[in-house]
Amino acid sequence: MKFKMIAPRAQDMKSFIVMDVLERAQEMERSGQNIIHLEVGEPDFDTPESIKAAGMRAIREGKTHYTHSQGLLQLREAICENYGEKYGAEISPEQVLVTSGTSPALLLLFSALLMPGDEVILPNPHYPCYPNVIFFVKGKPVLVDTEEAEGFRYSPRKIQERITDRTKGIIINSPSNPTGIVMEQERMKQIASLAPYIISDEIYHGLVYEGKEHTIFEFTDRCFVINGFSKLYAMTGWRLGYLIAPREFIRPMQVMQQNLFISPNSFVQWAGIAALREAHQEIREMKDIYSRRRLFMLSKLRELGLGVVVEPTGAFYVLANARHWSSNSYRFAFDILEKAKVGVTPGIDFGSRAEGFLRFSYANSLGKIEEGMERLQKYLENR
Ligand code: PMP
Repeated sequence: MKFKMIAPRAQDMKSFIVMDVLERAQEMERSGQNIIHLEVGEPDFDTPESIKAAGMRAIREGKTHYTHSQGLLQLREAICENYGEKYGAEISPEQVLVTSGTSPALLLLFSALLMPGDEVILPNPHYPCYPNVIFFVKGKPVLVDTEEAEGFRYSPRKIQERITDRTKGIIINSPSNPTGIVMEQERMKQIASLAPYIISDEIYHGLVYEGKEHTIFEFTDRCFVINGFSKLYAMTGWRLGYLIAPREFIRPMQVMQQNLFISPNSFVQWAGIAALREAHQEIREMKDIYSRRRLFMLSKLRELGLGVVVEPTGAFYVLANARHWSSNSYRFAFDILEKAKVGVTPGIDFGSRAEGFLRFSYANSLGKIEEGMERLQKYLENR
């Protein structure tokens, strides 16, 4: 009998291309080359001191054991307090499940929500892992195209056209990766009533430079919120996130967490409490710096002839139209990396509507952004 040694579920999962770009860039660095990283969605800032101190204190105090599989009650309380203070949302700690980053939260959420063939609507372009995880649990991602000319805004009318009796949820992500667009209140309100559940990825909340972000809880409680500490608190490597869900979903997701992960890291959760309660000043400072970088990067990209129709006002990304240079963003991004030594993310990572685009991250210093833009300029001149 012939066995398949690697299960199709593992083989069929698409790669997260930005990680491939990053890993190739790191390989080049190991061989002595200098690379400017504008590809990865990772703050260049060190984690704020107050957060690091809380993590170290927790280790010294022996908080190094398994925690409750739903996450520390104290952290869940701090999360509820945060949503209450910021948005007036009334959430109970029983509705919160703490995870090792928002990525495991996506796995738990879609595993609990989707039966084979169940549909989830998401925008095109989108964060790459959404459809990849939906496919992994045998759900069906249904893409709604957005238009560059409209600033990649998600249309409630187009969403409505794609609703079927298999639609379980609609994903929204504001501020958005990769577009940096922040969804207006009215649009969110309209979308909130269109499907049984709204899945709102709020990981870039707090990183809004003009206007204001909204949580889905302002419009419906038939929702799942995923959020985490990686971006706002510069804590990517700590791996801490959470999921807020309708009560009936918590126990099944908790049981999955028990079996798959047992609990999130203990001392990291204590650091998370400090992030929510003590790091306000550091966050303000990081945000001001991102805002200056955003304007600088936008003006440089435009000088280079890379189009940005509607300016991004949140997260730390610019999705720039490079079709004028190449319609194959994958080849283009790797060529830029090899020849200009600048890491950028190919638009195709985010879906077909971003093909021909490049995503630039300004989670890097002004000096590095300037150097990266100069290298890119020389590369484009020689093309
Ligand atoms: N959602 C979005 C939109 C993201 O950009 C990211 C990180 N790139 C994540 C979720 C996952 O973040 P983490 O697992 O570090 O919390």
